[in-house]
Amino acid sequence: SGFRYRPEILDEIKEEDIMYLKEYEDWFVLESDQLKKITDHFVKELEKGLTKEGGNIVSFGPNLDQVTTPMNVTWVMGFPSGHETGRILTLDMGGTNLRVCDVCLSTRKRDFEQTQRKYKLPDEVKTGTGEQLWDFIAGRLETFLHEHHNGGRTGTTLPLSFTFSFPVDQKSIRSGVLQRWTKNFNVTGVEGQDIIPQLEAAFQRKNLPVRIVALINDTTGTLIASHYRDPQVKVGSIFSTGCNAAYMEECELIPKLADSGLPKNAKVIINTEYGAFDNDRKILPLTPFDRQIDHESARPGTQIYEKMVSGLYIGEMLRLIMLKLHEEGRLFKDQDVTRLRNENALEASFLSVAEMDFSDRLDDMREEFEESLGLSPSLHELRICRYLIGLVATRAARLYACGIAAICKKKNLRRCHIGVDGSVFNRYSGFKGRAAQALREIFDWPPTELELIALNAFEDGSGVGAALAAALVLEGEEKAKP
Ligand code: BGC
Ligand code: MG
Repeated sequence: SGFRYRPEILDEIKEEDIMYLKEYEDWFVLESDQLKKITDHFVKELEKGLTKEGGNIVSFGPNLDQVTTPMNVTWVMGFPSGHETGRILTLDMGGTNLRVCDVCLSTRKRDFEQTQRKYKLPDEVKTGTGEQLWDFIAGRLETFLHEHHNGGRTGTTLPLSFTFSFPVDQKSIRSGVLQRWTKNFNVTGVEGQDIIPQLEAAFQRKNLPVRIVALINDTTGTLIASHYRDPQVKVGSIFSTGCNAAYMEECELIPKLADSGLPKNAKVIINTEYGAFDNDRKILPLTPFDRQIDHESARPGTQIYEKMVSGLYIGEMLRLIMLKLHEEGRLFKDQDVTRLRNENALEASFLSVAEMDFSDRLDDMREEFEESLGLSPSLHELRICRYLIGLVATRAARLYACGIAAICKKKNLRRCHIGVDGSVFNRYSGFKGRAAQALREIFDWPPTELELIALNAFEDGSGVGAALAAALVLEGEEKAKP
């Protein structure tokens, strides 16, 4: 039938369905050649982001005309030696949760202990005012200090490292102007502002005895933490609610740092912020569903690549597809689709449960439909949906591989490890294998060859990564003392 992507499940689907499903295949299947083209264009965009012009394009707020991948300078100028010590509090504000951690770096090389607590970020906090957001964070930190730190009233000020999973323009490691919200956050009064004084003000309102010593991105934290454990790690990446990567760059190769007076041999971690790749829509094959997701997002026109790839959007992608098929009379006939009409009704886990169901009757999948959508599809409909899920998730994994491949190509890394953190990567079984297969195709590794660039899961690195970044800063402060 000319199908390019064809799981066994399709053999049991009727001819008439195959006709229209073919259209979805044309939209979602990406062949090796396309992946290679996207990767090559990606390399150029990464380079552009490092230039003066690229790097200087800064545009805040909803009226964005910024088109390059930001390639933000993090001011983390090296990897930890492994001998770092000390006790550091870390706050990790991600797309879904806020994590507070008390990290104790031990004198035994590459060892640490941590106590951590996770709090879900309520929707009101993601779309309220800046003050509400910072007060929420300060409030959770206060609770944490009461439970684990004797209220923090130890007479000393505790050093704190803040992991902020959004793009910031940094003049130093202790400051950062939010370029724009991503992941459908929409908090007022923060874009275009330095977030550190805002967070400090919230700490002061609660009299918290802490001092912010470092501001880092989650990818930077993952890179530091996974390199600490495995020095072959050259790229740190997050595949979760959002998607992004960081790597170490030679300052000589960063034209936008030319006037910064840094020594010739200096290196710095670059937070690529490559979720913004192809905001100018030059290469990614957007489907009508991608356009709709962008259009309905909090910041249309931004994070175009991320919106095709990351966990926040793949559930929505599937929902839009199923809804369209329902409206065409192909799925869930005579059923109550009220819940299917709710925006963001599906999480990425919905797709992963369906794909993990290998039973004949797809009972787990059926249960998910019942629970999440109040639908009772026939076995035939479940098979169709399972096929569509495969298309959406496979495209996400294959496009994800392009960003990783681009960094490796740019840095001429032929053999290395990639440290990956994030709930989708760690929990969506099958995702890693699909991304690895895409890397194999992009680099033309023969089937007999082992993976030269290996994606290795690195869970919960953010705490220790942030602590290590802070330890580097504190070491620097010690050395600078007269
Ligand atoms: C943010 C990045 C972050 C990534 C993963 C993106 O939306 O812009 O800063 O690293 O999500 O959390
Ligand atoms: Mg995170």
